[in-house]
Amino acid sequence: MSYIDIGDQGLVGLFQRLPIACVLVRASDCRALAVNDAFRTLFGWQDHQIVGLESRDLPVWTSPEQREALLDVLACHGCIQQSEAELRCRDGRTKPCLVYAEPLELGGEACRLLMAHDISDRITSEQTLRRSEAKFAALFLGSPDPCVLFEKRTAKIAEVNHSFTELFGYKPEEVVGRTAPELGLWRYPEKREEVIAKLLRERRLRNEPVDLVGRDGRVLHCEVSSNFVMIGDERCTLSTFKDVSERKRIEARIKHQAYHDALTGLPNRLLLNDRLHQHLALGERYSLSCALLFFDLDHFKRINDSLGHACGDAVLQEVGRRLLAQVRKADTVSRLGGDEFVVLLTGLDGDAEQVVRQVRHAAEQLLEAVARPMRVEGHGLQLGCSIGVALGGQHGNTVEELLKHADTALYGVKASGRNSIAFFEPHMQIMVSQRLTLENELRQALQCGEFCLHYQPQLDTRTGRLVGAEALLRWTHPVRGLTGPANFMHVLEDSGMMLAVGHWVIDESCRFVARLLKAGRVTPNAFSVSINISPRQFRQPDFVSEVAAAVHSHGIPPQCLKLEITEGIVIHSINDTVEKMRELRAMGVRFAIDDFGTGYSSLSYLKRLPVDLLKIDQSFIRDCTHGGSDAEIVRAIISMARNLHLELIAEGVETAEQLAFLQEEGCHACQGYYFSPPVAEAVFIDMLAPQDPAKRLIGPGSY
Ligand code: C2E
Ligand code: MG
Ligand code: MG
Repeated sequence: MSYIDIGDQGLVGLFQRLPIACVLVRASDCRALAVNDAFRTLFGWQDHQIVGLESRDLPVWTSPEQREALLDVLACHGCIQQSEAELRCRDGRTKPCLVYAEPLELGGEACRLLMAHDISDRITSEQTLRRSEAKFAALFLGSPDPCVLFEKRTAKIAEVNHSFTELFGYKPEEVVGRTAPELGLWRYPEKREEVIAKLLRERRLRNEPVDLVGRDGRVLHCEVSSNFVMIGDERCTLSTFKDVSERKRIEARIKHQAYHDALTGLPNRLLLNDRLHQHLALGERYSLSCALLFFDLDHFKRINDSLGHACGDAVLQEVGRRLLAQVRKADTVSRLGGDEFVVLLTGLDGDAEQVVRQVRHAAEQLLEAVARPMRVEGHGLQLGCSIGVALGGQHGNTVEELLKHADTALYGVKASGRNSIAFFEPHMQIMVSQRLTLENELRQALQCGEFCLHYQPQLDTRTGRLVGAEALLRWTHPVRGLTGPANFMHVLEDSGMMLAVGHWVIDESCRFVARLLKAGRVTPNAFSVSINISPRQFRQPDFVSEVAAAVHSHGIPPQCLKLEITEGIVIHSINDTVEKMRELRAMGVRFAIDDFGTGYSSLSYLKRLPVDLLKIDQSFIRDCTHGGSDAEIVRAIISMARNLHLELIAEGVETAEQLAFLQEEGCHACQGYYFSPPVAEAVFIDMLAPQDPAKRLIGPGSY
């Protein structure tokens, strides 16, 4: 129902069908004449609630200020162009609208058509956009990774975040508006082209490794991720850089560690394998040979044992430097571990004979370089070394073969006396396998109890009394029978088995003493057992407690033990040696210097050593009656012992003349075949025979 007749039906129909909410108002009295369907739908008001009301009384207004402002505009201009207003619905909700008003003549009557366009959706989407822009800005600016926004069209930097300025050292105003090439951001500009092409092709980049340059010229290893974004109506490229310099450094270090020896920094076995592999392949193509030189430092273990590991390490470093200084750039000096150095000589040309000549020459020079005297931690040292050589092609075509054959050649050198060079020969393999067999058999021997001790009597030649015994290691080989240490001691030492065997010797000797004491065959003050101690064994940190434990567990008086050490032990590690000796002597254990006179220790060192006894080496005794210098040496040792208040014993006494000489010179303790060879335990016990005092005199023919 219309409040007034608005006449023209055509117009009414049009008015009703307008998709925008409309109210028709008469200009003369500002009263509403009609509303259309869109109005009813949008606001929910029905005709009777609107029609007939004055404009200012319409229930749609939410605030008087807004109403007055709009109606003022309408009154002044006869129209409203476009104004935002909040209008009320029937259910009380309000709607943001754009309001228009147009003059209109209807049936001769001046009217105004008020129109309202609902803009809720637009406002919501504007808010959403604003929020997402804020989020983007927060993410961009606050990102811990450096971010740059480039204008896609110009490649100019539109924006950078704080992390970027921090990492690259630029202020935002120094970079915004400029391109990466202008700033010199890329270390390799050609890489930029490549990366951009990839981005265009794939529409995005993920963790692409690139090297960039900071403001101060520092190279930054980064990973860049990029994609295209719309910022407003500008197409942009958003790039995020991750600084992976630290990770790269760590990776490089790990890689270096994996391929190099930590002590010397030289290539290790892995890298050597790698290079050898390459050269074998290359050699085939260009008919060039290579040679593998396997080094072994003669008696290096002694340096470690007597001077300590720090000194041993310094020696290895020096050897590494010397080898490196000697070879050509293309050659490889590597350390496989311990004192094993391997040099790979490459690019050798000519026929087999010429190659051998070149390699021998190079090897000799390397040998000389290592053998030059060196000063390490205050010690003057000179090292011998042995070199085993295998030739690429001739002696093997694989890394494994060549290494094995060079190592085998090394055994060949050692067998023929150290400090020289040997090329691989097939027969050497037999020696190696014999040595390996021996090592395995010795391992078995310890487990199966094939070792035993023989005892050699020691006498006081004035009384003929048996005052002690030297315990000497023997091995009953399942096939070869009883053998002495000359046949296997070096293998025990080299393989480290000497530690376990030495431990067994100490324990077994204590058991022997306990047995004699218990049986009443000897008295604690008149008998001792001498035990040979290898330098390596003595250097063990728990050596003192090992001896103490053996003494304790067998319940023997410690003065019944004499430990025989050689001068080699004491030359350098004097402080450690003296300390250990003091501790053991405080318990009552005594010390003898074995093979005295053959070492090189200075008298001042000897003076500092808490020893009880010198054992004159058998080489001097052997010739002391033949009128050479040996007699003088023996005399000198005897008088020195007297001055230092040391006891004396002569070993290797084989003849009556030697005995007479020693007695005359005042050396009264003797040991040697003249009296008895080393004998099995039962035989030795028989010699003691306490029941018959006459039998205690031993000499030739007394048993
Ligand atoms: P050493 O300690 O100097 O022992 C003396 C060596 O001379 C022994 O040889 C002994 O049998 C031998 N001998 C004794 N009297 C005479 C003689 O009148 N004339 C000659 N020509 N030789 C005589 P063996 O038993 O073959 O031992 C050799 C070396 O092996 C020992 O020399 C010692 O250094 C070492 N050794 C033996 N047993 C052990 C052990 O249990 N531990 C350690 N670390 N070394 C041992
Ligand atoms: Mg000895
Ligand atoms: Mg000796």
